[in-house]
This record gives sequence, structure tokens and C-alpha cells, in this order.
Amino acid sequence: MAQRTFSIIKPDAVRKGYTAAILAEIEKASFRIVSIKKQSISRPQAEGFYAVHKERPFFPGLCDFMSSGPIVLMVLEKEDAIADLRKLMGATNPANAEEGTIRKKFAASISENAIHGSDAEDTAAFEIGYWFAGYELV
Ligand code: GDP
Repeated sequence: MAQRTFSIIKPDAVRKGYTAAILAEIEKASFRIVSIKKQSISRPQAEGFYAVHKERPFFPGLCDFMSSGPIVLMVLEKEDAIADLRKLMGATNPANAEEGTIRKKFAASISENAIHGSDAEDTAAFEIGYWFAGYELV
């Protein structure tokens, strides 16, 4: 059965002009783009999105980075979308990412790593609801 996941093209990748190339990878991997929007987010919006990480040392830098410029927010759909997007993204640290993955191709470092993808069903549901209203997902 088709499953939905949530993804962000992060500010580093948007700044470098990789948006279209990353979208092409996503479509080539058979994801359907259910909804997509480009916007800048505030620091409080980033803090709310990454609340699970609020005790981690990298949290302030992560929130500064995510609110540093426009991002592309997407809801994606396919069978096994959550696991398949994580595979397509590659490891969090691009130095450890497999050949052919989006982070291997487009990410510079662990903090500027080009793309976000939900890691489980419950986080996907939270993240989709955080950024998209129901009427944007029909
Ligand atoms: P992801 O699911 O692969 O994006 O990784 P996590 O959910 O664990 O972390 C969220 C984001 O925080 C990552 O994509 C990184 O940009 C950043 N991050 C995670 N771990 C570290 C770290 O050890 N150092 C720094 N600087 N950033 C990190």
C-alpha cells in the first residue's frame, strides 16, 4: 500500500542550485510528489520541527541553519516511502553515505547535508501535519 513521507531540501542545497537535480532523483526513484512548497522558515518554526533534538549539542546550530534561507518542503508517496527515501538520502554524515545517494552527491557536511526525510511512521505523520494543512494534500 502507498505510504507517505515528509522531506525537505535544506538551505545549503537550495542555495547551491541543486533543487531541480534533487527533485529529479526523487522522481526517478518513483516517488509521487503529493505536495510541494518553497519558503523560508523562522527559527521558532525550526525549533518546533526539531523539538526531539532540543537537548542535543547541535540543536542551536541546526535551527540557525534551517532558518538561514529558503527550503523546499514536500510530501512524497510510494510503497515503503519512508524506508526508500532514507535509502535514497544516504547516511546523515555524507562522508559515510553510499555512492549514488543524494547526500553523497549533494551534501557537504553532517550539518549541511542537503535533505531531510522522516525516519518512522509516527514522525512522518507529525512532520506532514506540522508543515501541511489537510487541504494541501488532496
Ligand atoms: P537525519 O534523520 O539523517 O537527518 O538525522 P537526525 O534526525 O539524527 O538529525 C537531524 C539533523 O541534525 C541531521 O540531518 C544533521 O543535519 C543534524 N545532525 C545530526 N547529528 C549531528 C551531529 O552530530 N553534528 C551536527 N553538527 N549536526 C548533526
